[in-house]
Amino acid sequence: MEVGNTIIRVCGIEKESIVDGPGFRYVLFVQGCPHRCRGCHNPESHDPNGGVEMTTGEVFAQIMENPHLRGVTFSGGEPFEQVHALLELAHMIRDAGLSLMSYSGYTLEELQARHDPETDELLGMLDILVDGRYVESLRNLTLIYRGSENQRVIDMNKTRDEGKVVLYQSDFDIEIVI
Ligand code: SF4
Repeated sequence: MEVGNTIIRVCGIEKESIVDGPGFRYVLFVQGCPHRCRGCHNPESHDPNGGVEMTTGEVFAQIMENPHLRGVTFSGGEPFEQVHALLELAHMIRDAGLSLMSYSGYTLEELQARHDPETDELLGMLDILVDGRYVESLRNLTLIYRGSENQRVIDMNKTRDEGKVVLYQSDFDIEIVI
């Protein structure tokens, strides 16, 4: 199959967001999630047969329409249920010089334990991974980029460099302590 024709099942798109990662970002909400977290913010994303189909090329063309984007965020739904298609899209995004961030209801360790080459390759292309299920009892509205305290915002570049999980820290993104 020609590159750009792989199908992604899409729940929604936010063409310019400032709350789903650093800077202006295009957010791709993928369709299908097995985690069923209580209090999920996006229950319409759960059905793997719902949403609409788009090709990787169609999504990338939309991304390229906006010259002000700093990066792209994969959200959901569960992005790591559609690794093959998102990996193809990730290559296009990185080749265009944009940063890449993804959410996952799986932890980094759970994803690594798949021992799946495409999962590993996608993890290797991320700048930031927000990992772990949403836990309603740990909900905290003051957190940046995450909904509950168990979730981690992981700096994937430093994590690769240091060989251990390093959390993302930004000069601008200071969590409010109340
Ligand atoms: S991982 Fe995200 S989309 Fe999936 S059920 Fe949990 S909160 Fe909802």
